Amino acid sequence: MAIVKPVDSYRHQGLRKLLVQNIRQKGIADQQVLNALETVPRHFFFDSSFLEYAYEDKPFPIGAGQTISQPFTVAFQTELLLIKKNDKVLEIGTGSGYQACILAELGAKVFSIERQKTLFDRTSKFLPVVGYPTIKTFFGDGYKGLPTYAPFDKMIVTAAAPYIPEALLEQLKPGGILVIPVGGNDVQTMTTIIKNADNSFTKKEYGAFRFVPMLEDKAKEV
Ligand code: SAH
Repeated sequence: MAIVKPVDSYRHQGLRKLLVQNIRQKGIADQQVLNALETVPRHFFFDSSFLEYAYEDKPFPIGAGQTISQPFTVAFQTELLLIKKNDKVLEIGTGSGYQACILAELGAKVFSIERQKTLFDRTSKFLPVVGYPTIKTFFGDGYKGLPTYAPFDKMIVTAAAPYIPEALLEQLKPGGILVIPVGGNDVQTMTTIIKNADNSFTKKEYGAFRFVPMLEDKAKEV
């Protein structure tokens, strides 16, 4: 069955403007990031029966036990990445594809890995239909990164990582930034790792967030 592009009505656009105002008030200052959130129709990534939830600043289930991150969290992680046009960006945890579209809106070349086959299949078919054919999706284990396409200017992990995977550090360019929520299942600390020109690392922490866990076993056919 062909996938149909959902409608983006004036009502949706109006709700999106309000959501962006809300996120600005919560402290996101980067206008380019706010513009990207105003451009990408978040309701496209929701089941039609749950559309009314799309413009609340809340996470929401997307099936397979996973969630689309809270818009504030998407904005916060994106702001930390300091995306420049044509940056090569690796995302771990494609999920609905919403975060990947925000990165693409900012001019990034996006590579995104998902370990759950159902989500991978659904999202990789959906992204070209909603206008993001350049996002490259991969079915695999994010702990390993994407050696074939490395190195990356930026990396974003959108699941809770119990530790910082070594492969990601290796695949980051000097001058590159990794944004990753590190911690156990209950709460994680948003963390950035900058790879310096001499290949040393500088770590900074940005407070508590909650993500679904990054799962360590290899990619699963579920
Ligand atoms: N960025 C997503 C949010 C995804 S939630 C969005 O915008 O919708 C986290 C995602 O990470 C889930 O889809 C989960 O299946 C995936 N995930 C968990 N462990 C992973 C791993 N080891 N490698 C790749 N993806 C993983």
